[in-house]
Amino acid sequence: MQKSFLIFSVSLLVGPAINALAQGTNQVVTNSLTQTNLSLRCISNLKQIWLDYRNWAERHEGRFPFNVTTNAGGSKELSSHGDDRIEKNPAAQLRNLAKGLVGYDYGTFTPKILVCPADTNRMPAANFLELGFSNVTYELFCCTNTLGDTPPGILLHCSIHNWTLWTDGTIHERALAK
Ligand SMILES: [Zn+2]
Repeated sequence: MQKSFLIFSVSLLVGPAINALAQGTNQVVTNSLTQTNLSLRCISNLKQIWLDYRNWAERHEGRFPFNVTTNAGGSKELSSHGDDRIEKNPAAQLRNLAKGLVGYDYGTFTPKILVCPADTNRMPAANFLELGFSNVTYELFCCTNTLGDTPPGILLHCSIHNWTLWTDGTIHERALAK
């Protein structure tokens, strides 16, 4: 009688503990899946932005907007960057790209793809006219490469996931030295 009471008591204690453990494991798995999902959506954003840059470059002898003068539809004069080549005003560059893509139906270019899904500090702009610094997650590199150059140059980087998009459209995980 005493023994069965002991087993009963132990099961009362162990049962909830196992449940809590299982729930904790589920939570870890769910969080991990969420993180993976956000990371994959970030890659998708970068790929889409590249398609739009390519769309523009294919109509401008393979050159990217920041290497083409404003007279020719580019944004060279609007570009301002340091030795690290990171654009100080990416919003101006991306607004100009959007303007240049209007005639080509924008492609996949929307303000939403400029914010990494894991970025809790920035919100997508309602439209490109309102696009500002707080609406862009990705660091834009004003490299001198054209579309077909080998080796390619870095075009965009997500500092949250360290995804790095190159001018040939490839994406690699790479932390950048600051
Ligand atoms: Zn990201």
